[in-house]
This record gives sequence, structure tokens and C-alpha cells, in this order.
Amino acid sequence: IRAMKTLISGGTRGIGRATALDCAARGWPVALNYRGNAAAADAALAAIREAGGTAHAFAADVADPAQVARLFDQAEAALGGLDAVVVNAGIVEQVMPLAEMTPERLDRIVRVNLTAALYQAREAARRLPDGGTIVFVSSAAARLGSPGKYVDYAATKGGVDTLTIGLAKELAPRRIRVNGVRPGIIDTQIHADGGEPDRVAELGPTLPLGRAGTAAEVAAAITWLMSDAASYVSGAILDVAGGR
Ligand code: NAP
Repeated sequence: IRAMKTLISGGTRGIGRATALDCAARGWPVALNYRGNAAAADAALAAIREAGGTAHAFAADVADPAQVARLFDQAEAALGGLDAVVVNAGIVEQVMPLAEMTPERLDRIVRVNLTAALYQAREAARRLPDGGTIVFVSSAAARLGSPGKYVDYAATKGGVDTLTIGLAKELAPRRIRVNGVRPGIIDTQIHADGGEPDRVAELGPTLPLGRAGTAAEVAAAITWLMSDAASYVSGAILDVAGGR
């Protein structure tokens, strides 16, 4: 089994961090991207190194194409190449009906969740070797629509799913597998950013499996899709949403 040199955007907190720890447990070296929270990046690096893993962290706003190109340069230099990219960074904003959202917010949500995914995918397509792999972190919102809360976010994740389908076919001749995961309600900080810090506690019991998911449970699906165990899986979008 290859030691997959892996770049994870938004890799320092939540689902990205859990994915990085899972990669490290498999002996895969990781480059973690984050936007600005250096304390969280340091904590993630310390946790991975304590577990015996190899990790580096790089600040970059994935919504800026020049910063994405620099990030890939830095990751390749630090790891000696790249075999896998996890397109994970994403944001929500305050819950509200679409009618109340400002154009500035809509522009930000589309740029960070969809345009940035295209920038990362473009660099990955240019740089990954034959046999490499990409996993996109979408959301169950892509099929549920998130009415009254964040239909803007849901729409961008629908775009990410379509990107997964198209890129899987585009890169298949190079044996690059491209897949996605759609997490449901997962216990991370993202809900506080939407103004719903109690979302996990409140909605957990209403979900089919009776609870919210953990970042580690999503990470397990991501690293399985990356691994040789999923060698014939491409263009798949796996729900990790507790039956929702
Ligand atoms: P999180 O805990 O809020 O962590 C977000 C991570 O993304 C942080 O490392 C953050 O960096 C980074 N980030 C945010 N904006 C960025 C930008 N412009 N450039 C670079 N990095 C950026 O989020 P999470 O809950 O783990 O979510 C990860 C992914 O899963 C997202 O795509 C999200 O949409 C998706 N998802 C989450 C849930 C859920 O319930 N949690 C459900 C479905 C889908 P800083 O620390 O520097 O801010």
C-alpha cells in the first residue's frame, strides 16, 4: 500500500483535522491548509506528530487562485509530491431565508464553497500523477436544500457534486479516482458560525440514527475512498448522514 502524500484544505479543524489524523494513522504524510486560525493549526500539527505522523500546515485562502497555486507548491515541496487532495474547506453564514441574504454574502458563499473547489480541483488535475485521487467534501444539504436556513450553501454543494461527477469522468483515463462524501449533521464548530451552536444537541435526537455524527466518522469514509480498498470506486458520492 502506497504512502499517499495528501493535501487537505481546511485540514486543521473539524472534519479536515479528523481526516488528517486518519491519514497519519495509515502512515500517509499530510499537508494541512487553513485560512487564519494559527492556534488550531499548531494544535492539529502537534496531535498528528504526537501520534507519530508527518504533517505540515500552510495558511491560504482557497477562494484566491494565486494562493491556491502557492499552497499546492508548498505542499508538493514539503511532502516531495502529492498523490491525493481532499477538497474540504467550507463555510456557512447566519441562517436566514434567501430573500434576506445580501449579494456580498451570496458571493462569499459561492466563492469559498464552489469557486474555491474548482480552483483546488484545477490544480489537482494539473499536478496529480496517474493513479492519484481526489475527494470532495459536499453536504447532505446538496439533496435536502436547507430551506429557510442556507439555500445558498446547499446550492454550492450541489455544484460540488456535479463537479465530482464530471471530473471523475474527465480524469478516469489517467486512473485518477474522484469521489465525494455528503456529511449530515456532524459535531464541529461550523454550526456556531451559522448562529446555531446548539444545532447538534437539538437536532441529533431527531435524526434517523438518533444522534449527530462525529468528524471521525466522516474521516473514515474519506480515507476509505482515497485508499486502494476503493480501487474501483470513482464518481461516487457517499452519504455519511446517519440515514437522513
Ligand atoms: P469547521 O470545523 O468550521 O472547519 C473549517 C476549516 O476550513 C478550518 O480549518 C478553516 O480554517 C478552514 N477554512 C474555512 N474557510 C477557508 C478558506 N477560505 N480558505 C482556507 N481554509 C478555510 O468545518 P467542518 O464542519 O469540519 O466542515 C468541513 C467541510 O464539511 C465543509 O466543506 C462543510 O461544508 C462540510 N460539511 C460539514 C457538516 C457539519 O455538520 N459539520 C455537514 C455537511 C458538510 P481556519 O481554522 O483558519 O478558519
